[in-house]
Amino acid sequence: MVEQPRVTPDLPDSEMVAAFGHNLEFSRAMGPLTSFGTGGPARYFLSVSSIDELSRAVTTAKRLNVPLFILGGGSNLLVSDDGYDGLVIRLEINGLKLVEPMTIEAGAGEQLSTLVDFATEQSLTGLEFAAGIWGTVGGAVFGNAGAFGGEIGQVLTEANLVDLAGRTRTVLTDYFNFEYRSSQLKTSGEILATARFKLDEGNCTEIETRVQEILKGRAERHPSERTAGSFFKNIPDSTQPHGKMPAGRLLEEAGAGSLSVGGAKVYEKHANIIVADERATSKDIRLLADMMKKKVFDRFGIELQEEIQQLGSF
Ligand SMILES: Cc1cc2nc3c(=O)[nH]c(=O)nc-3n(C[C@H](O)[C@H](O)[C@H](O)COP(=O)(O)OP(=O)(O)OC[C@H]3O[C@@H](n4cnc5c(N)ncnc54)[C@H](O)[C@@H]3O)c2cc1C
Repeated sequence: MVEQPRVTPDLPDSEMVAAFGHNLEFSRAMGPLTSFGTGGPARYFLSVSSIDELSRAVTTAKRLNVPLFILGGGSNLLVSDDGYDGLVIRLEINGLKLVEPMTIEAGAGEQLSTLVDFATEQSLTGLEFAAGIWGTVGGAVFGNAGAFGGEIGQVLTEANLVDLAGRTRTVLTDYFNFEYRSSQLKTSGEILATARFKLDEGNCTEIETRVQEILKGRAERHPSERTAGSFFKNIPDSTQPHGKMPAGRLLEEAGAGSLSVGGAKVYEKHANIIVADERATSKDIRLLADMMKKKVFDRFGIELQEEIQQLGSF
């Protein structure tokens, strides 16, 4: 893991604005920027829409010793109720274009669903599995998002990264060491700025039909309440389809399906999903997740690993 400064120095607001620019926001509420809708404010907040802006912001944060966090769509994120004592950079590097026959380049801030739609319009197949996965291209690559046996790492060919010193470079797919819900970005701390995806030629109507089937299935299975999707990773198990034992099954069998804390509860149709109502705090969600984990450990001796990322202190 790349070392980041832990304590934000107390610099006058005017000095921070002089360093980061007039778009710098102070005490920005993070709840509305996450799919759980909970959590306190970020001390500093900046949206960036180009690689240059990102690189400058990262360099400045390093110079001033301000810890930073990259925000995509906030759909895999639990922010502490006390907020984050650092700089949140929201990536709004957008854009989608066909760069070679069957290769799409996407900005990291682009919604994954928009990338799926673009591929469909171009009659390119290979991204249908991603239909209905929330969040941005950057968040998807960070966690190697996937469903139905497909993963984003299977179609990514190269990418532009910005490191924590603000330097940019291009890397190829091997660099990412993609594994189940994991990529090199989780340990290197580098930021994805753009990525290229190599797809195959397909039939637009067939692709569209498959996408709609997946969206319909998700709408039936997934909650309408606030959630971040699966909270825990599935467990490697070669005897199971796709080589994984669903964490939801273990949670169900361990009796976690009916648990709740404050405004957070386990979703009745899927024990690996936490849903939050308007009373919920991040602490409720955290406590509930710990109870769920304990149930599985006590029953099966298995320590569930979390898919969700946390920001701030818990
Ligand atoms: C209803 C629902 C269903 C879901 N279903 C699935 C599913 O089927 N499969 C699946 O895999 N996930 C699923 N998820 C979880 C979530 O959608 C994915 O993990 C998604 O890829 C997160 O992207 P994001 O942009 O929201 O990331 P965020 O939540 O904003 O961030 C997550 C992590 O990614 C990092 N990050 C974001 N952008 C970048 C970047 N450009 N460079 C480096 N790091 C970055 C952040 O720092 C953070 O650590 C679901 C979520 C919901 C709400």
